Amino acid sequence: MPSIGVRINAPKTECIAINVTSPVVTEATAKKERIQVVWDDDSYEGWLIDWSAHPQFISQAAYDLLDFGQFNGSPPTHLIIYDDGEMTPVFRKRGGWLVDIDGDKHRVRRLGFVEAIDSSKNQFRCSKCQSVFPSNISLQAHIRSKWCRARSELNIAQQRSLRKPRVRAAVRFGQLPEKIEPISIHTIDGVICKQLLRFVT
Ligand SMILES: [Zn+2]
Repeated sequence: MPSIGVRINAPKTECIAINVTSPVVTEATAKKERIQVVWDDDSYEGWLIDWSAHPQFISQAAYDLLDFGQFNGSPPTHLIIYDDGEMTPVFRKRGGWLVDIDGDKHRVRRLGFVEAIDSSKNQFRCSKCQSVFPSNISLQAHIRSKWCRARSELNIAQQRSLRKPRVRAAVRFGQLPEKIEPISIHTIDGVICKQLLRFVT
């Protein structure tokens, strides 16, 4: 088999990476977030929990009875625990939809109030409203703001409108990990190609 080589000027070469994977969420880094799930009859609230934390909520005996056939061979992405105590593994799709273990599709709205499942990681919690922040700086900024209000005092629309600025602020200050895995591409000579754009599939 002949082999073909291309000599390139590495610092001036553009490249695109495909199939870049997101960092894996482990049981130790699992988080939960408040959500509202829309059913035909009504909307229900609860917690959306990273699936990696499921052993803390589902016993092995209960797990063995679960059938993930509705998820087309993929493992669940999350566990929902509704406020009435109902639990269901779900597969979250893009665009605000999820499929539950019965195969029912529901719209899901994220309401914020993200915190780690491992409570020792929630160091920056507001003592007044119980919201968790990624750093002391953002906690102090929150305390000074007019938005220190308990979740029970906020309606769904207020919870939703509060979520976005908090997420944006955390990303801006580098307090949330970007959901991509940085990679570098080397030429055969070991020179690192210059990165111009990032694509995540
Ligand atoms: Zn507060």
